[in-house]
Amino acid sequence: MTIDVIIIGSGIGGLTAGALLAKYGKKVAIFESHTIAGGAAHSFVRQGFKFDSGPSFYCGLGQDKPSLNPLKQVLDLVGESLQVVPYDPLGHYHFPEGKFPVFSNLHQYHQEVAKITPQGAKELEQFESKMLGLYDCLKEIPTIALRADWQLIPVLISRYFPALLKTLFQVGIINGSVGDVVDQTVKDLWVRRLIDLECFLLSGLKAQGTVAPEVAFMLGERSRAGVEYPIGGSEAIVNALIKGLKRWGGELYLNHHVEKIIVKSGKVTGIKLKKGDIIEARIVISNATLWDTYNHLLSPEALPQTYRKRALNTPAVESFMHLHLGIKAQGLEEITGHHVVVHDSNKDITEPGNTCMISIPSVWDKSLAPKGHYTVHAYTLESFAGWEKKEDYQHKKKERSQPLYKALEKVIPDIRERVVLELIGTPLTHSRFLRRYQGTYGPAIAAKQGMFPSCHTPIKGLYRVGDSTLPGIGVPAVAASGILCANTLVSPEIMEF
Ligand SMILES: Cc1cc2nc3c(=O)[nH]c(=O)nc-3n(C[C@H](O)[C@H](O)[C@H](O)COP(=O)(O)OP(=O)(O)OC[C@H]3O[C@@H](n4cnc5c(N)ncnc54)[C@H](O)[C@@H]3O)c2cc1C
Repeated sequence: MTIDVIIIGSGIGGLTAGALLAKYGKKVAIFESHTIAGGAAHSFVRQGFKFDSGPSFYCGLGQDKPSLNPLKQVLDLVGESLQVVPYDPLGHYHFPEGKFPVFSNLHQYHQEVAKITPQGAKELEQFESKMLGLYDCLKEIPTIALRADWQLIPVLISRYFPALLKTLFQVGIINGSVGDVVDQTVKDLWVRRLIDLECFLLSGLKAQGTVAPEVAFMLGERSRAGVEYPIGGSEAIVNALIKGLKRWGGELYLNHHVEKIIVKSGKVTGIKLKKGDIIEARIVISNATLWDTYNHLLSPEALPQTYRKRALNTPAVESFMHLHLGIKAQGLEEITGHHVVVHDSNKDITEPGNTCMISIPSVWDKSLAPKGHYTVHAYTLESFAGWEKKEDYQHKKKERSQPLYKALEKVIPDIRERVVLELIGTPLTHSRFLRRYQGTYGPAIAAKQGMFPSCHTPIKGLYRVGDSTLPGIGVPAVAASGILCANTLVSPEIMEF
């Protein structure tokens, strides 16, 4: 077969790049190691329960055009749409000091925070107003118009000059951390911790480590577009992207593990599959993490040694413990779908087991569970180190899932009696099913200590997309990485925006 672009991996980054390039007229083939597409966003079914393996929190996917969500911008372009259920409050935070709903509407949110700390609520408002100022500038330049080369400059100047000027005034905040803005606006210790939590939920890092535009966008979008869940779960997003890819002639090969990227004289020539086949193309895009790409897919000599060493030294956010449960739903008709539980205020929120995320998506989409039941996914950070398939593995699994059960008990006190299906996932499970180095959430590149790398690599014809490239972790961000890479591979006249 003749292929213009090979993509390794069908995560949201690989699928968005693939669907866009197919729309731009390229012959695209995606090779996915797993039997299910979607990477961290894949869904799986056990005994009639459909589970999201990762993301469940989305904004701006069901909206009429134009949406600011890069994923929705790609879906619009390839002619696909999603059915979504909007909901508010977007979740409940359970702190030892109290539980409160988090509303999309920021005024309502402040009123809830004021019940715990009136002064803190005022400071939170000042913090948010600074972040929303940044969001107001950024939102005027749609991601779908961006690319990762010099040709971005004429596009920005010719089409978005006023927005560009406004953005230049925000340059101090754009390059800074959320922590800098917190330091200028918030003294209240409880609210500082709340902002740390919101940053951690997004980037895996606290306010000092999180870049300001990421939080500006999250706050702006959740108050502007609201929050929603796609009917059919994260699989619906993955399927829509695959449909878009195929509509424009692209191909997806599941269960095709790529063993090597072939490089000759500093140029990519194709890939070698585990099955032995060699597939040729002048452009290869890796959606595998930077560690998996540079450690396993490339021979060490293919990259300049200093570049390789620096890249592989990038710190990684920890992995996860997961609890996927099928439960009896009787009497839980009023329950809401998202919860974050912080067990101990004296411990760091990033400490494994201390902050637990809970998603009960069958609250919004009944088709995800058998009649009278709910699908539950709870997860918390867990270090990869120390996990081995030894004789104590089953025991350790049970033990390390207890913080998740305790968190669930804050939401559903009799959770243990309701369980009809229990699947416990460890960092080993996460790294195996998501094909990710140490089961990591992604790179821990702290604000001001470096930037996420772009889609370019030192090898001609080799590009990267996904959460170890700019702009970073999360579904909208990796969709943006797919856009940046796809647009970079075509001339601005072909781009549609
Ligand atoms: C528990 C959890 C909850 C999350 N919640 C949210 C949320 O609510 N909202 C949100 O926006 N984000 C959330 N995220 C983050 C988001 O899901 C990820 O950042 C994003 O999905 C990563 O996409 P990606 O394209 O970078 O890579 P991945 O999803 O990792 O995809 C990479 C793909 O490449 C394949 N691959 C790897 N190596 C090979 C190979 N050698 N050959 C062939 N294929 C290969 C893998 O199998 C995989 O399918 C969550 C993540 C997790 C883990």
